Amino acid sequence: MSNLCYKCFRKKDNCYCQYAKDVDCGIKFVFLMHPKEFKYQKTGTGRLAHICLPESEIIMGIDFTQNQRVTELLADPSYYPVLLYPAEIPVTAKSPELKEKLSTGKKLLVFVIDSTWACSNKMIRLSPNIAKLPHISFFGNYKSVFTFKREPKEYCVSTIESCYYLIKEMQTSGIADPQIDPEPLMYVFKKMIVFQIEMENLRIQGKLPNIHPKDSLPRKTRKVPTFEVGGLVEKSQIISKSPDLQ
Ligand SMILES: [Zn+2]
Repeated sequence: MSNLCYKCFRKKDNCYCQYAKDVDCGIKFVFLMHPKEFKYQKTGTGRLAHICLPESEIIMGIDFTQNQRVTELLADPSYYPVLLYPAEIPVTAKSPELKEKLSTGKKLLVFVIDSTWACSNKMIRLSPNIAKLPHISFFGNYKSVFTFKREPKEYCVSTIESCYYLIKEMQTSGIADPQIDPEPLMYVFKKMIVFQIEMENLRIQGKLPNIHPKDSLPRKTRKVPTFEVGGLVEKSQIISKSPDLQ
């Protein structure tokens, strides 16, 4: 057990925390994590986001109506709580009512459901205290840079990407500090993608044992993506030499 990192729950040799950097955006993110997601950390990005977002919290559960911490947060007058979830007419960073609510000095508290879409729906259905919160969404359209899970629709970005895009949109509308660099979120996510594909390829080639029933089975090895985004080129060159990819 001592070989395990208690922040990202990965082995210390390939722990992601070493690539994480604080994104102190002034928004409080709370990840409501389905127990399945909590257990199978392989592609969960909520925990990755959590290690980059200093004030964030992870709360595990399915029905949050009686959850003590959720109840405390919802009752805390210093926060304006919202749920990051699609809606017919969602609140966005551009919505005047959001700015108005935050103009009283309240801090934006964003609940994020960190689960598959099917489980998310169930969690919301069972948690009316969360379901009744204003639904916040993006004014832009985003596609995931990569998907491990077969999400039903293309617009399904991962949890960590959702945080990244939301922070960026909040910056454009002046709600989050534009001086804060949200790129570490994307950086650590891309790091995870590269690592996962490398590992999967090794399993397919028989160089590593399968650790999950769905590992490697009918798949072909995939090309490891090289991400060249913004100021990350230099860093990604360093990544390619990183010993944890061996
Ligand atoms: Zn770690």
